[in-house]
Amino acid sequence: MTSSARPLLNRRLAEFGTTIFAEMSALALSTGAINLGQGFPDTDGPEEVREAAVRALRDGLGNQYPPGPGVPELRTAIAAHQQRRYGLSCDPDREVLVTAGATEAIAASLLALLEPGDEVIALEPYYDSYAACIAMAGGRRVPVTLHPDDDGFCLDLDELRDAVTDRTRLLLINTPHNPTGTVLTRAELAAIAELAVERDLLVVTDEVYEHLVFDDAEHVPLATFPGMRERTVTISSSGKTFSFTGWKVGWVTGTQELVTAVRTAKQYLTYVSAGPFQYAVAEALRLPDSYFDGFRADLRRKRDLLGDGLRTAGFEVYQPKGTYFITTDITPFGEKDAHRFCRALPERCGVVAIPNSVFYDDPAAGRSQVRFAFCKRDDVLHEAAVRLRRLAS
Ligand code: PMP
Ligand code: GLN
Repeated sequence: MTSSARPLLNRRLAEFGTTIFAEMSALALSTGAINLGQGFPDTDGPEEVREAAVRALRDGLGNQYPPGPGVPELRTAIAAHQQRRYGLSCDPDREVLVTAGATEAIAASLLALLEPGDEVIALEPYYDSYAACIAMAGGRRVPVTLHPDDDGFCLDLDELRDAVTDRTRLLLINTPHNPTGTVLTRAELAAIAELAVERDLLVVTDEVYEHLVFDDAEHVPLATFPGMRERTVTISSSGKTFSFTGWKVGWVTGTQELVTAVRTAKQYLTYVSAGPFQYAVAEALRLPDSYFDGFRADLRRKRDLLGDGLRTAGFEVYQPKGTYFITTDITPFGEKDAHRFCRALPERCGVVAIPNSVFYDDPAAGRSQVRFAFCKRDDVLHEAAVRLRRLAS
């Protein structure tokens, strides 16, 4: 507290404390519990990608400030990836921007595109940095809640349409969706695109889990729909796709105007980051399809392994179509408060999870939802399943 007794933290950030991921990972560390909370794999990504980073470091590639928009090798690889996977063409020199993870891409996009008071529609439950970045940019978040049903979580398109007002500037979309594992369908995305065009809205779409889709689900970038290219900022990251979350290499693609706007904010946040890792991620993006297919198949198996364990333990499980998270409901245990449940879970059975309630404006809406990450070794998932069974007794 200063002498004026004014709170140090400004009003825009007053509602934000320590992130739930830091809180729960600290709890895992202090209790020795299995950490199925924060979403990071417990096995590093491909050896050749790690070696590429070592080579870059040794060869002096990226050890000094890389170019502001990112090293040309990586920008070219990102553009080639968008073309190969989605038929989206972007000019690597003008329409691609490398960022310090998707986190910085989200922050820079919102800081660049919002005026104070602008409304931003975000799917709820929302990834925690959305709320904080909208607040830092002076925007107003307007949540549209995904509703649980037999097939996971579902977007009500009428609710989305009704949420748009004259003050809405931007739709902040996330598919595949963290924490619910929902993958928006082609029809849903087409409806979102139509709405954006009709109401002349910008769209920021967080597609960091683009490669983690299972079963019959398909990831379709919003930027591929009619009228969307010129209004969409697409965000992705190497962290999830290549299992190097600590490298923090993310990116933005979009038209030159949009990318220039985002870069204007980004250059005053980190300016640049992760020089040698950028070269390694360029190599990773050029891995053959077999890598991406194998990774997806492996995660799908892990989803089923943990899903079975959670069901056997007594949780209600919402089957995810994408990401590496499973959202559950704890009411079958007679429990109603996810945060309290998660704080007690290490002591009760030696496992850490994330309460989804923190991803809602109205915590009551997600009060009994708990998220588990399955990007872990099979033996860890097996052991977690055994431990979770103790909850039944
Ligand atoms: N968006 C979503 C939906 C996420 O789950 C995460 C966490 N990885 C991020 C963005 C942040 O990605 P990065 O680690 O690349 O900053
Ligand atoms: N995206 C990760 C998750 O949802 C967490 C990243 C972070 O800790 N900020 O678990």
